[in-house]
Amino acid sequence: MSDSGESVEDFRHRARGWIAANLGPVQPWDLDQDCADDAAELVAVARDRALQRKLYDGGFAGICFPREYGGLGLSPDHQRAFNEELAGHEFPSRFMVPTFTPCAAILLEFGTPEQKARHIPPILKGDAFWVQMLSEPGGGSDVAGATTAAVRDGDDWILNGSKVWTSRAYWADWGLCLARTDWNVPKHQGLTVFMLPLRQPGIEIRRIERLNGESEACQEFFTDVRIPDSDRVGAVNGGWTVGSRWMFHERMAANSPYVTRPTGLSGGGTRGSPLVAMAATAGRLDDPIARELIGEARALDIVTHSLNRRLAAAAASGTANVDGSAIGRLFHGMAAVRRTTIAFDLAGSDAAAWSEADEAENGAPGMDFLLRQVACIGGGTTEIARNVVSERILGMPREPSGDHGVAFRDVPRGPSR
Ligand SMILES: Cc1cc2nc3c(=O)[nH]c(=O)nc-3n(C[C@H](O)[C@H](O)[C@H](O)COP(=O)(O)OP(=O)(O)OC[C@H]3O[C@@H](n4cnc5c(N)ncnc54)[C@H](O)[C@@H]3O)c2cc1C
Repeated sequence: MSDSGESVEDFRHRARGWIAANLGPVQPWDLDQDCADDAAELVAVARDRALQRKLYDGGFAGICFPREYGGLGLSPDHQRAFNEELAGHEFPSRFMVPTFTPCAAILLEFGTPEQKARHIPPILKGDAFWVQMLSEPGGGSDVAGATTAAVRDGDDWILNGSKVWTSRAYWADWGLCLARTDWNVPKHQGLTVFMLPLRQPGIEIRRIERLNGESEACQEFFTDVRIPDSDRVGAVNGGWTVGSRWMFHERMAANSPYVTRPTGLSGGGTRGSPLVAMAATAGRLDDPIARELIGEARALDIVTHSLNRRLAAAAASGTANVDGSAIGRLFHGMAAVRRTTIAFDLAGSDAAAWSEADEAENGAPGMDFLLRQVACIGGGTTEIARNVVSERILGMPREPSGDHGVAFRDVPRGPSR
């Protein structure tokens, strides 16, 4: 039973009826794949905005968000029930990561009441997409080594520097940005988080083309961008406290109680094409090796879903070691690479994609195979997740660090910084 008095089962029953009446079947772009070109991507963005608005108007947006900010104030169990009922249906996939988590999750945890009242309702209504600006040209793994700098100027801050690999910044609305505000203390102690609208003087956004021709990744250049102090998130120089939770919420991704996403949706390169159909097309249905691969992929799906469920339940109960989210992040990367490799193997020579036409027709597993490593990089690399698991969960010795206790100004840096 929740504060509202509605039991999970009553809520599930109500959600089932509403979903059946209002939402169509799951679409290819719900797998959070980027579209072939900007025109198609912007159509998908508009569709996701409308879908999020539909959830809001239907009374199903922000299930775990506080009621005072437009949410339903219900429990993670209610969210899980909704996600289970959503299986097989369309949903606003582009909103979920990074807008709902980590960005909205961070606003809820560290924002002032005024910041939450201003920003959470537009997110729940589908009016505001957020991005996360952590990675820099000098490196993304060492998040605390940020050199994008904000300097205090009266009631404002002046931001200069550059962030990179920001997914979808070219059409998004707002961003969370980690910046250096004190160079005279060790690196973790001189950081502050700000929020800023992406379209304003002083911000130049450039696109980065990837191997498959799409360019959703962006680099932002900040030149004297003025940020009011009222848009600071958390304490001055308290950015690492915010940043640690930020990375936790990022690793939680689909397991976050703030995320509406159909249970059982698998990404990782198969693009929804059932592997059995792929084996049939390749004439390999009776091939014992193909059958074993299909079984392995199925086992990965089952393990992924039960691990996700366990992590989500542990996070919701508040009993979990927060670093446990790194286990989910690590397994997601490993499983995605393996699933992609299995699809590539099953498709055989059909997976060879020499042109866009090939890819559209039957070469998707080939392109997914070429891009498979993305699953081990985006959202923090699997190597860093291994470090977190070994050092903070298993208690193994920390790796040596040359910058411990040293003022960031005095830490040697490479030329790219
Ligand atoms: C699809 C995608 C979407 C992304 N979206 C965003 C986004 O929206 N916002 C954002 O800020 N960033 C985003 N990123 C960037 C991503 O977070 C970084 O690429 C990632 O953190 C790694 O940083 P890097 O590429 O600078 O590699 P580096 O940090 O330079 O690392 C290079 C290699 O060294 C390894 N390595 C580094 N340090 C260690 C260590 N201490 N121990 C062991 N191995 C180590 C890394 O694992 C990696 O293999 C995205 C990346 C991808 C692929």
